[in-house]
Amino acid sequence: MAGGQSIPGAQREGQTSALIRIVIPQGAGVVLRNVAAVLARQISERCDAKVALAGDAPVTVELAVEPGIGAEGFHVTDGPKSTVRIVGNDEPGVLYGVGKFLRTSLYGRRGFTPGTWRGTSVPKCPFRAIYLATHFNNFYEAAPAEELKHYVEELALWGYNTILIHFPTWQFDSLSDAEAQKWLGRFKALFAHAKRHGLRVGLLQAPNQGYKTPPADLRGVKVPGHRRGNFGVNLCASKPEAKELLIRMYDELLDEFKDVGLDYFQLWPYDEGGCACEQCRPWGARGFVGISRELAGLARAKFNGCKIVLSTWGFENENDANPDGEWVGLANALDEDKSWADYIMADGHDDYFPKYVLEKGVPGDLPLVNFPEISMFGMTPWGGYGANPTPAHFQMLWDRIKHQAAGGAPYSEGIYEDLNKAICAQFYWSPGRQAEDTVKEYLAYEFSPDGAEDLLEVVRIFERNHRRNRISADATRAFDIVKSVETKLTEQVRRSWRWRIFYLRALVDKEMYEREGELQGEALREAFQELTRIYHAENSHSMPIKPPQVE
Ligand SMILES: [Zn+2]
Repeated sequence: MAGGQSIPGAQREGQTSALIRIVIPQGAGVVLRNVAAVLARQISERCDAKVALAGDAPVTVELAVEPGIGAEGFHVTDGPKSTVRIVGNDEPGVLYGVGKFLRTSLYGRRGFTPGTWRGTSVPKCPFRAIYLATHFNNFYEAAPAEELKHYVEELALWGYNTILIHFPTWQFDSLSDAEAQKWLGRFKALFAHAKRHGLRVGLLQAPNQGYKTPPADLRGVKVPGHRRGNFGVNLCASKPEAKELLIRMYDELLDEFKDVGLDYFQLWPYDEGGCACEQCRPWGARGFVGISRELAGLARAKFNGCKIVLSTWGFENENDANPDGEWVGLANALDEDKSWADYIMADGHDDYFPKYVLEKGVPGDLPLVNFPEISMFGMTPWGGYGANPTPAHFQMLWDRIKHQAAGGAPYSEGIYEDLNKAICAQFYWSPGRQAEDTVKEYLAYEFSPDGAEDLLEVVRIFERNHRRNRISADATRAFDIVKSVETKLTEQVRRSWRWRIFYLRALVDKEMYEREGELQGEALREAFQELTRIYHAENSHSMPIKPPQVE
């Protein structure tokens, strides 16, 4: 089966029902039972239909695993009577099939109507991760654990198969710091939850970053230029005592994840990270390579099959004095020995993508994965104005590398970029899929199939008005469309946070346009307060996370 292909089969009208039965094979394992629970929760949250695991019902959805479809792929077929069969090549395949089935079904006042999409679909890219930034008391740190777990399930329904998180050493005194233990408790539980749903998990770390107060004599030399992010706690990986300390730190940290098991360990050069001393520089080609190789070995020894992702974020580019220095250096190092790395991650801020990769290829000829920035660009505070969909922007970024990418991991700061996450997940699933096609599927599923075309126009207006100093008169039209579509939505959709952040973005843009950018007035004050509540941002850093507050 060709990767990422969708082959539509025969279609027949679904039957609307207030009672749905979900059938799983006898003796099904924990993942399949959890996938059934995800399906049940999604249906019952979106309409008043009841979901049962036994007895008779007008509509039955059967989940099964039958190898031979292609890794993580699925097909959806008709079974006897009113049964829809969602068959995965493996357990994760069932989960992704459930996602497609849910998105093509209808949720109305009379109940649930199973989708008519039939066919087979297999993901093209094996690495379909989402990186959840956990800092500044953002959504991922502040939301109730249950809400966060549900959100991860919903991301998986779009095709993500991996959750990446960074353990922020710089926030803690040590591993025994009560705050560090609290952090570990929360995110190890999240990882375990993800694994029980068939997902993979990984840590993303800057390998020379120390705890809050590392010994002064072991610290590194700040890298000159604009590499962003510098908490002043980076160690010099060329000093033997510092290297020993880092290996000991990671020996202990990785042991914390022994029970959960890590599938990926990702090493990050800058923002944070780096040392510019004589022995370490250029960091990306020397100091970083040395310490990363040590820690990669440690991770692989502790976790069977753990894959190593080597990031090149912040590597020198054509604006620097020695544009290819780090790239050539890393390529040379990997030409000598690349046995310790599995993927190269490359990307850049805003529209930049490393020229070296585009023109000369991937160091070590390793599979390439990207790191699209879906959260922060063009709006401060991040997410402060509601939903921030920008499909044309991500289409442009993806088109440059879609022929060679093995996947990627969007950088996420919260839930306001939910639509951007869906776009990227579908790029990884099926690289040729157009961003707007995914947007239409999202709008139909999350809001209304009847309103999807009109709301697509709103998304286009949102993107044109993305920069806060460029909001134009069509903001008023976008708000009118949103208000008109809202009258046709079910009660469940109107109350949902996804609709509220979409609605509030339209409202905020209209108000900002009318007020020529001034953040004033009752409507904006209430909109920002509601966004703050939705993000659980009451106690987050006012910059960059918390929505603006109007006096
Ligand atoms: Zn150094």
